[in-house]
Amino acid sequence: MLMNKIAFIGAGNMNSAIITGLVSNGFTPSDVMVSNPSPEKREKLADNYNVLHTASNIEAANFADTIVLGVKPYLIADVLKEISDQVDVENKCFISVAAGCSMATMEKALGKTCALIRTMPNTPSQIGLGVTGLYASDKVTDEQKAQADALMSSVGITKWLDKESDIDNIIAVSGSAPAYFFLFMEAMEHKAQSLGFTAEESRKLVQQTALGAAEMVVKNADLSIAQLRENVTSKGGTTAAALNTFVEGGIDTLVDNAMDAALHRAKEMA
Ligand code: NAD
Repeated sequence: MLMNKIAFIGAGNMNSAIITGLVSNGFTPSDVMVSNPSPEKREKLADNYNVLHTASNIEAANFADTIVLGVKPYLIADVLKEISDQVDVENKCFISVAAGCSMATMEKALGKTCALIRTMPNTPSQIGLGVTGLYASDKVTDEQKAQADALMSSVGITKWLDKESDIDNIIAVSGSAPAYFFLFMEAMEHKAQSLGFTAEESRKLVQQTALGAAEMVVKNADLSIAQLRENVTSKGGTTAAALNTFVEGGIDTLVDNAMDAALHRAKEMA
């Protein structure tokens, strides 16, 4: 892999997922340092993957060329201010995975124009099936972009964005979207139970159907999703009866409104 040394600020869910992906893809663990104020989480990562760890964000930032910011969005500015005082930040590349923390906020906290990349991964990154949108500031070099791409590709697929505002769009399309599917599956699970299946049976039936449907979309890239739907819908049959109910209930409008609501909230939080 292209990368040199990487620091992970925060040893929470998202950074742990990226570290898992990186090391599983053959990245050298001794080139990774993770910082977290409390020892338990960083020690667990160190035990599992042999990465270096520290309580000091400054030590981690000084160790690396690439610094991944994996703390809650409201802490990003504080962490950058802390680092900025004691680290040569103009020679580092910062990659934030935090939703709702703008480039402007990060630049203000650093007090200098630095190489900054905003990313928006989604939760399935935790199992290597994520989607990450990335947007780079002008100061980011092609090499740094390639490194960020390699980093986030270790937990799924990547999509580079032309404008920072596209981060809000990708939140609506993929960032928040795993929960849209969970909600739909939950509703189906409840109905399966009301039809007499046990909770365990209902979950299994629904999860395998969702997995099979998603896998059919992936494996039939030459067919549109609409075509796949038509292929399993006989005129006047059971599937058609169910789908008509969704259409009459306004599913297109509902999805449109839901994604607009996510977009609106993302803009408010930025
Ligand atoms: P988390 O709470 O699991 O992890 C945050 C970690 O940061 C914790 O281990 C905490 O102890 C540590 N921390 C707190 N203050 C710190 C400090 N000053 N210095 C260093 N470490 C500190 O949260 P998470 O779910 O991993 O989310 C982290 C970021 O990733 C957030 O900004 C979130 O918006 C983003 N994100 C997460 C997901 C996801 O699926 N979890 C998806 C997209 C984006």
